[in-house]
Amino acid sequence: AVVVVGSCMTDLVSLTPRLPKTGETIHGHKFFIGFGGKGANQCVQAARLGARTSMVCKEATGRTGESENQVGKDSFGNDYIENLKQNDISTEFAYQTEDAATGTASIIVNKEGQNIIVIVAGANLLLNTKDLREATDVIRRAKVMICQLEVTPATSLEALTMAHSSGVKTLFNPAPATADLDSRFYTLSDVFCCNESEAEILTGLAVSSPADAGTAALVLLERGCQVVIITLGAEGCVMLSKTEPVPKFIPTEKVKAVDTTGAGDSFVGALAFYLAYYPNLSLEEMLKRSNFIAAVSVQTAGTQSSYPHKKDLPLDLF
Ligand code: ADP
Repeated sequence: AVVVVGSCMTDLVSLTPRLPKTGETIHGHKFFIGFGGKGANQCVQAARLGARTSMVCKEATGRTGESENQVGKDSFGNDYIENLKQNDISTEFAYQTEDAATGTASIIVNKEGQNIIVIVAGANLLLNTKDLREATDVIRRAKVMICQLEVTPATSLEALTMAHSSGVKTLFNPAPATADLDSRFYTLSDVFCCNESEAEILTGLAVSSPADAGTAALVLLERGCQVVIITLGAEGCVMLSKTEPVPKFIPTEKVKAVDTTGAGDSFVGALAFYLAYYPNLSLEEMLKRSNFIAAVSVQTAGTQSSYPHKKDLPLDLF
């Protein structure tokens, strides 16, 4: 099974002709609510490939309309848990709180596809080590744990420590990245997977080609991870491991991208699925397949809604 200790965010998306100026009110032409948050996105992709999954996360409880004076009451939390259930994800440890709002990303997108985004992590930041201890059994029995940085670093570190000490493979996605990442994140990562901009922030090096990514991956590997993977958008990814410390570039499919939002999360979720259920595949083969799945996700609009199900994918991926 795959356990994800991470975020759920409700995306509130308005499409507008242009971005409003300070103090200005403009008309948009479309609004929709989407399910996001890196943790949940990755969990949904793993589940859609057939993994048994559990989400350890936190959101608000209650109903919208109560929220202005009582921040822990909004309907997004209940809706999110329903979404996890519909994706066959165990919600036994999807906690609800009255002390903070469900995490939201308020997004405005103009006709050129440029955006402005405000993220309020809210209840995600209240997921704590006591919550993790309650989920001990599900964590210790998993094959793979995925963590990101949209919950507090202390919670992510404790989750990785619990997994590591029970022999659960850890897949860490340092997103959003900060330059001063605690060194324990590297030593607790069996697989450390980030994109180009995260690799730049973490290493201080410019990363815009497979060769650059190989150099950055070496720097990250030396900080103590077993395996480093850097994703390169339409190009694919680069891998490097303690056992084979020579960077290897794994190109992806040439496809017509419609919406690349959440491609990295599709990739990470797919990789967790292969690590958990096909542990005998070579890492290179796992990454080829994860590239393929993420490339499918960029060909339709939306984040989770663009993630493919097993039944829609070629049989030779399984
Ligand atoms: P993020 O979404 O975190 O920015 P990337 O842009 O690096 O991550 O994308 C992650 C993975 O998604 C890539 O390694 C690749 O497999 C796939 N991918 C992303 N964009 C494209 C694209 N335009 N065409 C094909 N595959 C893509």
